[in-house]
Amino acid sequence: MGAVRLYTESDLDAGLTVSLSAGQAHYLGNVMRMKEGDPVVLFNGRDGEWRAAIAGLRKKEGTAVAGERLRPQDSVPDLWLLFAPVKRARIDFIAEKATELGVSAIGAVFTEHTAVSRVNEDRLRANAIEAAEQCGRLSVPEIQPPSTLAQRLADWPDGRRIMLCDETGGGKSVQEALSGGSAATGPWAILCGPEGGFSSMELDLLAENSIVTRVSLGPRILRADTAVLAALACWQSMVGDWSASAARTV
Ligand code: SAH
Repeated sequence: MGAVRLYTESDLDAGLTVSLSAGQAHYLGNVMRMKEGDPVVLFNGRDGEWRAAIAGLRKKEGTAVAGERLRPQDSVPDLWLLFAPVKRARIDFIAEKATELGVSAIGAVFTEHTAVSRVNEDRLRANAIEAAEQCGRLSVPEIQPPSTLAQRLADWPDGRRIMLCDETGGGKSVQEALSGGSAATGPWAILCGPEGGFSSMELDLLAENSIVTRVSLGPRILRADTAVLAALACWQSMVGDWSASAARTV
């Protein structure tokens, strides 16, 4: 098994002491049965990845001291995932898989047919952190505050395009949507709907917007979490960091 990787918000540099959270101390001591002096690997999304040693370990607190830098900071493509919240276990799954698949940000978007009324941002973040630790990422995706689709579109940043996953027919194939030079250069967001799909009003509203490209993920109706995964994998392989012509990164 590889070294235990931990995300920290502290600065990392040779010789710096980093405080471990209660959860991290519990994990290292009680779950992994590690002791003072044992090695861990730390990253914070800014300073790269560092080898470190546990310096103190108690039940609810601990420290580690950074040693040498193992990898310089890198970045992921500038890709947001906007998803309509579904049941809790499926949201956990979406946060984990989107992190592994290399998104830069994750945001829950309430749509007309969204059946869930609340999203636990802390839980989203915890799942993203755990996935980042496990998959070797050097950053954790930003967790954006949950918001309505209308609000998100009203505040939309210039230049970021939307790949709208639409199962109702008439959308382009992902290949069509993402081929052509300009697709590879700009920031994107992938937008997936809830189990009930987008309403026809929402689809009309989105279709009018020139930043939106409707795509089909094939002839079968996918569950919302499957659609998220499929769309992210297609995007990464066409213009993201699985592809030779990698998109701009953040
Ligand atoms: N309206 C549907 C199911 C929606 S599936 C119904 O109830 O019958 C949930 C979401 O997954 C959709 O809003 C869409 O964003 C995405 N999705 C599912 N299958 C898809 C496909 N074949 N192509 C594109 N997007 C799809």
